[in-house]
Amino acid sequence: MSETNTVPVTSGFAWRSFDAYLFDIDGTLLNSRDWVHYNAFHTALQNVYQCDGRIENVPVHGNTDIGILRAAAKLCRVEGERFEQGLSRAQKIMGEEVEEHAAELRPELCPSIRELLDSLFADGKLIGVCTGNLQRIGWAKLKAAGIRDRFTVGGFSDRHEFRHDIFRDAMEQAAAHLGNEAKVCFIGDTPNDILAAQKLGVPVLAVATGIYGLDQLEPHAPTHAVGCCTELL
Ligand SMILES: [Mg+2]
Repeated sequence: MSETNTVPVTSGFAWRSFDAYLFDIDGTLLNSRDWVHYNAFHTALQNVYQCDGRIENVPVHGNTDIGILRAAAKLCRVEGERFEQGLSRAQKIMGEEVEEHAAELRPELCPSIRELLDSLFADGKLIGVCTGNLQRIGWAKLKAAGIRDRFTVGGFSDRHEFRHDIFRDAMEQAAAHLGNEAKVCFIGDTPNDILAAQKLGVPVLAVATGIYGLDQLEPHAPTHAVGCCTELL
């Protein structure tokens, strides 16, 4: 893509050399072993749009909550103005439902995530999230996983439908803390994470802890790729 900036691929990836680390959530920090987020989509689709569209029929990995809602609503011919008019209510319903059912969240941390976060935190690094989740949902998952206190900034899909806009938002928040010269690294588990980082010209570490294997991530030329974060420690 002509609009994609090139990030040099380094063989000796100095992963500790960054000032800020911005993590995707699902498949990168954790995998959800529950139906709470999933159910919230369907409650919102049903209550706001009287739509029976199912999110299993749309691409969810590397997508954003708004993008998933839009695609599922479209299956029921809800689109355009009708979709937009209900969107803020749909987001509110989703956030409320996940918070109400927070006790049912079953996040499973990806290998060595806790150790990695502790290590970065001890080094005084800025840690944030850049996720397609809505803000209330993303924070609820991290809280349930016992890692919320490690994160200072977050880019979410409440105000952004596209991943690179979410990443830019998180990056700007990091810059507000550390200045524009701060070195930022994104960490994600899907080709869309790699593409979003490349679009911003920022290094990206790909981790094969979601549904994509290394063989599926490496062709997208992340700055570096690992099977899981244990390989970093
Ligand atoms: Mg992910």
